[in-house]
Amino acid sequence: MDSTETRLKSLTMSLGADLVGITTTDLLADGPPSADPRYILPTAKSVISFALSLDIDLVQHFISKKTWRPHCDNRKVIAQTLYTIGDALTEQLRSEGYEAVNVDLNNNYRPEKDAADITEMTEFHPDFSHRYAALAAGVGRLGWSGNLLTREYGALVELGSVLTSANLTPDSPIPDEEHPCDKCKICSLVCPVEMIQPNTSTQVMVAGVTETISRKRPNTCCWISCTGYEGLALSGTWSNWSPYRLGRPLPEDKQELDSLCISLQKADPQMQTGDNSFNDYRQAVFDPDWFYYTVCGFCRSVCSPRREERLANRKLIVNSGTAALKLDGSHEVATEKSVEVQTPFGLNVMVPGEELSKERPKIQKWQGQFPLDREVIQYLHQNCVSADEEDSSAD
Ligand code: SF4
Ligand code: SF4
Repeated sequence: MDSTETRLKSLTMSLGADLVGITTTDLLADGPPSADPRYILPTAKSVISFALSLDIDLVQHFISKKTWRPHCDNRKVIAQTLYTIGDALTEQLRSEGYEAVNVDLNNNYRPEKDAADITEMTEFHPDFSHRYAALAAGVGRLGWSGNLLTREYGALVELGSVLTSANLTPDSPIPDEEHPCDKCKICSLVCPVEMIQPNTSTQVMVAGVTETISRKRPNTCCWISCTGYEGLALSGTWSNWSPYRLGRPLPEDKQELDSLCISLQKADPQMQTGDNSFNDYRQAVFDPDWFYYTVCGFCRSVCSPRREERLANRKLIVNSGTAALKLDGSHEVATEKSVEVQTPFGLNVMVPGEELSKERPKIQKWQGQFPLDREVIQYLHQNCVSADEEDSSAD
């Protein structure tokens, strides 16, 4: 008869996972605080970690700015599958008399002193780290970027974890000699806000494994870019999919960076609505109208298993141009006719110049549209006077 571990792994794979492994609370005990499953489940003895690979073609189209939404939609389907797998494992374990928790995939952060809500957070430490669990369970290792890298798919995976009171036999972490990160540092070159320092490192220990990874800039640096408040690389020649611009480099000083992030979050319309994905990520993922607004993740998207592929991916990114917001809510590659317009949200937006002409396209709102895009489009309709109009009023 199959062991409990084999049965649980078979169930995980049969429901669509590409990789699965098991670790224990004891093995995770040497890790950072977010490696401790007892924060969520006090009786936790074991963790089942599983991963699904992203659609590589859609990732390529995303980073080259050929298409934007298909990769976002793919991420949503994968998130739904991860929740479904976690729910099935949880159900199975509970039916065998154990406690079990399917850990939320994202947007669950430990409370921070002095932060009344998410808009005032600056550290963003998760309740439980899927990455640390995956490292300990032998699913992957941490790359220079800090992302979880697998031997099979590089960093192009999404992770899920189930915590349980069952005593399961753990898998071993991937040994150093099979580490999937070759320290090519290409991830450092494709971060528009230079979050991933190429030359300074730090060490993280989890399950007896010591990872040497980049000493990154403060977490608010990535938050600003990944949420979409700034997408332009310092070179000014390419961006992620964010059409928003701060008009100045991000501050070096942590306190200034944190304050900037807080002020942008406070002004962000999505933070004013009660039903955003920060309140209930699972609900958002299963809401048919919710759009998985993704503008960055380039450090992960670039990181294919082979170095030649990473070099090619980097080329796609730096030659992809910059993003602009169309008034129908889509994002496109900016042209020489694109203009930068100030908004009331503490940032500027790139818009195709022709869309600000007298005959602006009708406002098209769609379910799940990113609230900042929606509000900015509304603002542009109400307040922007095109160059043509200005010229004629001056006559
Ligand atoms: S891009 Fe290179 S250095 Fe960065 S995580 Fe991937 S393999 Fe490691
Ligand atoms: S998600 Fe984007 S902004 Fe954040 S570290 Fe990766 S490349 Fe940089």
